[in-house]
Amino acid sequence: MLLPLLLGGLRDLGTVGAVAIDSAGNVACATSTGGLTNKRVGRVGDTACIGGILQGSGGYADNIVGATSTTGHGESIMKVVLARLILYHMEQGKSPEDAADVALNYMKTRVGGLGGVIVVSSSGDWTARFSTKQMAWATIKDDQLQI
Ligand code: ASP
Repeated sequence: MLLPLLLGGLRDLGTVGAVAIDSAGNVACATSTGGLTNKRVGRVGDTACIGGILQGSGGYADNIVGATSTTGHGESIMKVVLARLILYHMEQGKSPEDAADVALNYMKTRVGGLGGVIVVSSSGDWTARFSTKQMAWATIKDDQLQI
């Protein structure tokens, strides 16, 4: 079992995201957030968009490719469908790290948004990447903790 976590994206907003892969190769993602400061009443951010109309913004998991969880400016994340975009680049042969960097750079240049992601591939490679100033992350593999 491999379990990378991300903690926080922009300032102290408190997102918690997780992706995991088990010994059978099943992947999963989870993302929790309080949203953004001064958000409008009724706003639905990216975190809830794991499927449906805006498929794969705040998180996405597919046993064939891998899983990702995102944090950052939700409106930007939704515009580029960030989580699914990362898995798309992995489907095209990029490593989790390169796919995350390409997608985060696209979000920055195309819509001016910053964020962070954790990614695990179906073969167990993982990465934590961000375009914000910082992002805390941790991973557990074979009972070994990395932060
Ligand atoms: N992505 C979240 C939102 O825009 C914020 C966060 O990452 O905590 O609602």
